[in-house]
Formats: sequence, structure tokens, C-alpha cells
Amino acid sequence: MPLLELDRIVMEFDIGSFGRKKKVRAVDNVSLSIDKGLIYGLVGESGSGKSTLGRVTLRLYKPVSGRVLFDGQDITGLPESKLRPLRRRMQLIPQDPYGAVNPVQTIGEALSEPLIVHYGLETREAMEQVKAMLENVGLTPAEDFISRRPFNLSGGQLQRAVIARAMLLKPEYIVADEPTSNLDASIRASIVKLLLDFKEKYNQSLLFITHDIVLLSLIADRIGVMYLAQLVEEGPSDEVIKNPLHPYTRALLSAIP
Ligand code: ADP
Ligand code: MG
Repeated sequence: MPLLELDRIVMEFDIGSFGRKKKVRAVDNVSLSIDKGLIYGLVGESGSGKSTLGRVTLRLYKPVSGRVLFDGQDITGLPESKLRPLRRRMQLIPQDPYGAVNPVQTIGEALSEPLIVHYGLETREAMEQVKAMLENVGLTPAEDFISRRPFNLSGGQLQRAVIARAMLLKPEYIVADEPTSNLDASIRASIVKLLLDFKEKYNQSLLFITHDIVLLSLIADRIGVMYLAQLVEEGPSDEVIKNPLHPYTRALLSAIP
């Protein structure tokens, strides 16, 4: 059963200035489907459209054409008011955690706010859940972290906090956009493991965006390869790895020692 489906998605940005119309097509005619409980791995070089595609699946961007379906519902044209009840079910784990949090909020405030907004929890109740979740993601003792501001956390710690914020809402669908690219190699594996543990626990579907096709060969059920805004190759991971059809995928794989 697909949880998320894209049907011939086109996404463009306006980059014209001084009255000149100019557009960049970031996603060109992409269709794909992500089944419930599975991991879809998306690779491609910088600027190929991965992050834009991820944001279209979450309807953070509205595509120029094509359709986005979430759990069978066409959400392509829904206004924010209609998207609101769906928001907690789909969460983004962004590439740069520092850019994704309000620098003046404490970690406690940043993580409890979505619970209060989406679930109507009392502040105290929300804070209890936040503490438990912080312990869960290895930010212990939680008491030490709830009063800190984002810039008082290391990159790895803040990445854990941002993952905790998403997971508190018990979403069914996660877009993890290069969640480890800003981290030391030594803590990358633990962040990936954290995401996989949540995925198992809540039976989540995951769109995992990365440069690392070796990692995808280990964790992804399907792999899609983006090149110049198009999805040039996709299929079950083992097939894509064993028998890559597109020259870009072949180049990626041949670079592995
Ligand atoms: P990737 O995540 O694969 O590195 P992106 O989706 O970030 O690629 O970008 C795809 C293309 O769209 C790039 O050419 C980028 O410059 C352009 N782009 C992305 N976001 C914006 C934006 N907000 N405004 C204008 N152009 C954008
Ligand atoms: Mg990106």
C-alpha cells in the first residue's frame, strides 16, 4: 500500500529579477511511490532537485503541475487550513538543524510547541513527553537540555533534538534530508540507527535523501536516482545496485572502492 505517491510532478522557482521572467525547473516530471513502512532512498548530485522533491512530498511546496497523494488523498491543491490536520503525520528532518529551529527558543520550548499546537496538550504534559523523548534520543539527562538554546548544542546533539521534535508527533511519513551530512563520521551511524529504530517502532515510511549510495544499499527498500531534475533511475535497491542502467548511477557505483 502506498502512503505517498507523486504523479508527474513539475516544480519551478522564479529566479527573475528587474522585471525579467526567469524560471529554474528543479523537479521535472517525477513520479514515484513510497509504500507504508518502507524506506525510499533518494540520491543525486547537489542541485539535482532532491530537497525540492522532498518538500513537494510534504506539500511544503506546491508543484506547478502533477499530483501529490498522501494516504490515498489528493493533497496537491489543499490550502494550509486543510493541510493542518495532516501536518503532524508528515515531518521533515532538515539538512541543517541550526536553520530549522528558532534560535531564541529553548529546546524545551521548541519541542513542546508542536505537541501543544497539534495535540492540544497542556504545557506541563508536553514537557514531560519532551523529556522522555530527549532521553530516548540520547540527550541525557534531559533536564540539562530542555533549558539550553540551539547554539549551546553541538551539531550532533541538535540533530538528535530535531529528530526528537519530529518523532514526538508520531508521524507516519518522514523526509530525512541528508540528516548526517553535517556530522562527524563517528556519529553518523548512531543518527542513522536512531532513525531506523523509530521507523521500526512506529512503522514509518521514510524518504531518505543522501549522497551515500552505499548507505542506501544497506538500508533502503527502493532507490531513486536524480540527475538534472529528473528521476533517471529507480527500483528495488538490490536491482539498482546490481544492474544500474543510467550512466550517472554507474558512475556513482564505480566510485566505490
Ligand atoms: P539538491 O537538494 O539535490 O541539492 P535542490 O532541490 O536544493 O537540490 O535544488 C534544485 C534546484 O533548484 C537548484 O538549481 C537550486 O538552485 C534550485 N532551487 C532550490 N530551492 C530554490 C529556491 N527556494 N529558489 C530558487 N531556486 C531554488
Ligand atoms: Mg538538498
